[in-house]
Amino acid sequence: MAQGKRLTLGQIGEFGLIQRVERIFGRPNRPGLVQGIGDDAAVVKIGHNKALLYTTDILIEDVHFSLKYEGFLDIGWKALAVNISDIASMGATPTWGVISVGVPVSIPVDNVDKLAQGVAKLARKYRIGIIGGDTVKSPDRLVVNIALLGEAPVQDILYRHGASPGDALFVTNRVGEAAAGLAVLKDRWQLAVNGWPKIKKQIVKKYLRPEPRVKESVLIVKNKLASSMIDISDGLHISIKLLCARSKVGARVYLDKIPLNKQLSPPKADQPLAETINYQHALQLALSGGEDYELLFTVPQNKIRKALALFPHGWIGEITKDKICKVLDQNGREVITRNTGYEHFKTK
Ligand code: ADP
Ligand code: MG
Repeated sequence: MAQGKRLTLGQIGEFGLIQRVERIFGRPNRPGLVQGIGDDAAVVKIGHNKALLYTTDILIEDVHFSLKYEGFLDIGWKALAVNISDIASMGATPTWGVISVGVPVSIPVDNVDKLAQGVAKLARKYRIGIIGGDTVKSPDRLVVNIALLGEAPVQDILYRHGASPGDALFVTNRVGEAAAGLAVLKDRWQLAVNGWPKIKKQIVKKYLRPEPRVKESVLIVKNKLASSMIDISDGLHISIKLLCARSKVGARVYLDKIPLNKQLSPPKADQPLAETINYQHALQLALSGGEDYELLFTVPQNKIRKALALFPHGWIGEITKDKICKVLDQNGREVITRNTGYEHFKTK
């Protein structure tokens, strides 16, 4: 009886669960906290003007990746990329990391080497030191967790809060390609478009080896372009909602402004192009596909011109006062999407 009344993870979802543990952990009894639970990374002050950022992400076999279509180098690369993305989305520099792995005994040693090499490759690219970790046996699934530090001057850090009505909403680059890449791998998608082998390679790479937007983050900070920022790893739509909720604002997003890979979909909804993904599908992937690791940021009006010069296809909408987050089609009609992005546990 009592069993039936117990709250399930399916009912509250990942976000509901995080809220509960946040209450359990409570406010830390220690000075220096600038940002705790609730943003892409935690921020603590470690000097007069210096902050340390701290983030962690876990990848679990058959939840985040499948050995059927991902190599060990890819898994290692992505384990670090997702963490770098969280530091970059705060406008900070990634610095030091530790890695923990849970490995089934059946996995050959050279594959574990490859996993480490995938991490090392990306670490070298961004001059990140991997300086510790933990290695344990896992019953049947591979588990990889990285915790990553970053640093930034306190005043440069960008949070999910900070957006104001009238700010423009920007995204750093095209969205939806990683989700299309996953569909190629998982559902064996084949599109009858010119140059398909090349396009296929490009979108699969977007999924397998995402490039965290560190360069773009530096540009945004250097030019003081943004009032708030988040990465869109769980999907564009859900990330807009999270940013708006934290900033206590709303947004109007214009569907036809969302930058897509034009080779994958016809540029206009009414332009039929047999056997390409239809435009609606491409938009669905862009809005809720996830895994894009682009940055979503808001730009105050006096910086919009500069932002457009640096991110010419980045403008996708504007921040509103009304706290309602709307996606509008070409006719100004609200687009209702079934799911806005990925949330663990959630059953509906
Ligand atoms: P992201 O997708 O950017 O990694 P998440 O959606 O995973 O962020 O997490 C949202 C916020 O909740 C972050 O601040 C994260 O640190 C925090 N968080 C997630 N899980 C836990 C947990 N089990 N305990 C404490 N904080 C958590
Ligand atoms: Mg994030």
